[in-house]
Parts: sequence; C-alpha cells; structure tokens
Amino acid sequence: MISPVLPTYARAPLSFVKGQGPWLETEDGTRYLDMGAGIAVNSLGHANPILVAALTDQARRLWHTSNLYNIPNQETLAERLVEHTFADTVFFTNSGTEATEASVKMVRKYFDHIGEPERFRVITFEGSFHGRTMAMIAAAGGEKLTKGFGPLMPGFDHVPFGDMDALKAAIGPETAAIMLEPVQGEGGIRPFLEQELREIRALCDEHGLLLVMDEIQSGVGRTGKLFAHEWAGVTPDIMAVAKGIGGGFPLGACLATERAAQGMVAGSHGTTYGGNPMACAVGCAVMDEVTRDGFLENVNRVAGHLRQGLEGLVASHPDVFDSVRGEGLMIGLKCTATNIDIINAGYAAHLLTVPAADNVIRLLPPLNITVAEIDEALRRLEQAAVTVEGNL
Ligand SMILES: *Cc1c(COP(=O)(O)O)cnc(C)c1O
Repeated sequence: MISPVLPTYARAPLSFVKGQGPWLETEDGTRYLDMGAGIAVNSLGHANPILVAALTDQARRLWHTSNLYNIPNQETLAERLVEHTFADTVFFTNSGTEATEASVKMVRKYFDHIGEPERFRVITFEGSFHGRTMAMIAAAGGEKLTKGFGPLMPGFDHVPFGDMDALKAAIGPETAAIMLEPVQGEGGIRPFLEQELREIRALCDEHGLLLVMDEIQSGVGRTGKLFAHEWAGVTPDIMAVAKGIGGGFPLGACLATERAAQGMVAGSHGTTYGGNPMACAVGCAVMDEVTRDGFLENVNRVAGHLRQGLEGLVASHPDVFDSVRGEGLMIGLKCTATNIDIINAGYAAHLLTVPAADNVIRLLPPLNITVAEIDEALRRLEQAAVTVEGNL
C-alpha cells in the first residue's frame, strides 16, 4: 500500500526533533554532527538565535500580504543583494527551481523584447542540476531527471562538462544564453576552472548571449566568496539563488542586470508567496551575517582546515577515498569505495553527509562551523572509513 507521503524519496532511517548550530538531535537525545546542513541550506546552523529572532519578530507582526502590495522587507533584501552583487534588480521566489525557471523566462523575454524572438535556446552542461520543474528537468537533461516525463520542453542544448570546443560548436543563430553552476552540486562538486568561466563570459559577449549562473548551492558565502563566480572575476547577467539565502526558511531569488531584465514588466511574471514578509525577514538577517566584516574570511579559514584534514584522510585511506575537490565549504570527497556505504557508516558514527553523482560525498556544513567541530567531523569520518575498510 502506498505511504501517505508520496514515496519519491529514498530517505535515511533517521529523523530529528531539534537542532543547535551544526548539531541535530533525535527524539531519544542522540546528537548527530550535521555536515550536510539540509543540503547547503542551514547556512548559519540550526536554531541560530539571530534568525530565530528575525523570524519570530516578523511572525508576531505580519506573515503574508501577497505581492498585490509593497513588502518593505522584500525591498530591503533586494537592496542588500543589489548592493553586494553585479545585479540591479531581484525577483523573489520560494525555491531554487522557481529561481532558475524565472531566469530562463527572463532570457526568452529579453530576446523577444529586443526583437530577436528566434533566439530562445539555452546551452547547459551535462551533469548539471537546475531543479525539478518541467523546464528545469529539460534544462539539465539527465536521464534520472527526465525519464518518463516526456515530451520535454524544447529549447535546451547540452554539452559535456568543461568541453569548451563542444560549447563553441553548440552556439548557433537560435542560441540565447548559456546556463551553468560555477560549481556543479548534485553533479558531484565539479567546479568550472576560473579560466573556463572567463572564456564563457567572453563567448557570451562575442555572440550577444546572456550568461545565467545557477548559484543556488554555491552562493551566499558557501565557497568563501559571497558568490562563487567572484573567484573567477566575471559576472553573469542573470543569477539564480536559493538554499543558503533563507537559512532554512524557503526563499529563492532571481537576480539580474537592468539590461537582462528589460523585458520584465508588470504582469510578466509573479508568485503568491515569493518574497513574503517572513522569508525576507530571514533573508535580510542571513545577508547581514554573511556580509559582516570577517565572516567570509572565517569561512575560508575553517575551509582550509577541513580541506587539509580531508587530504590527510585521502592519504591514509586510499581504499575508501580518492580525492578532495570543491571550493570553500562546498567540498566533494570523490570515493574509491561506494559513497553510500561510507555515508551509512557515517550515520552509525552520528555524522551526516550528503551523496552526489560521480560517487562523491558532499560536505556542506553550516558556514559558521568552528575548527573544533570540523575536527570532530574528521574524527567521525575516519571512523566511518575504518568501518568501510573492514567490510571491503
Ligand atoms: C537545489 C538546487 C536547485 C533546486 O532548488 P529547489 O529549491 O530544490 O527547487 C537548483 N539548482 C541547484 C544548483 C541546486 O543545488
């Protein structure tokens, strides 16, 4: 008999009743060290007092009014995002996939608006993940996402990850944009080289294409910059953000330059909940924290410590781990043994990590994790590795 909850998730047999910082607690009081942070969502840890205060203060005053009216918190958050990024304007959503969806709608609208409606195709990279709406499964194109859901929405061309020649060859008279994750998340923590991102920006400029970056997982301080593309010194025209920006409250955003957004006017796009007072109260508090003096420096400091520890684990457990990749606190451990076995052994050691494609384990801890907590995570990961070695 089907479960009351639609069985679309292969869940771990764990559930939690409360959290504190990077710790989660089960009903019986067992504490797990959370190096997944709800898939890069709990950017400031669980039950962060600053976020709790922002949410509860807002909850006592006003929850929701709809986008029929001005929402002061939304304006404040948009101003913060504009101040700290390439963008001139922001559309708020409830989730990541709505943010990438809005990005692609904006691309199509832009070319229609400038009188080139025949340009609507978007080039994406194999191994990418942009969400689960009909358009976004077609955008990513992977069989795991699309099988059984056809016919797929047209307008997306897929090229192998990092294949610059294939990318150039795919650009045609109907191409409107290139969309990419600067660091592929679900695809296995695969970063584009900085040089590749600069070349892609140059290609977009040369061919009049819009560059769309999906920073839903890599953004909001995750890689040690506010946004991952900053490492390469290039900016997109449109960017999708979600996950970390809400710190656990559902919030996403589509950021754009004035030029890219020029087709979007009253009535072009909308949402009932997107950017509601609660979500934006939390979003503002997250932005205040992440842009605070020294915050990103600390992310880079602890990330360096984690990286060094992981390199040590790779060296001492070559039958379990192959290599470390990623940027900042968006780390992938490419495994020699089966990633799921190591993750399960982690659960037994009360450590939470997240699987990704390409036999990778993702480490995406809260950005304010301490060096001592990282050391504890490394000890538990080593314990998991020893268990897996014992079973090889
Ligand atoms: C999680 C994610 C999405 C989808 O976000 P949802 O909130 O699950 O809709 C899209 N792109 C990337 C890169 C992601 O990591």
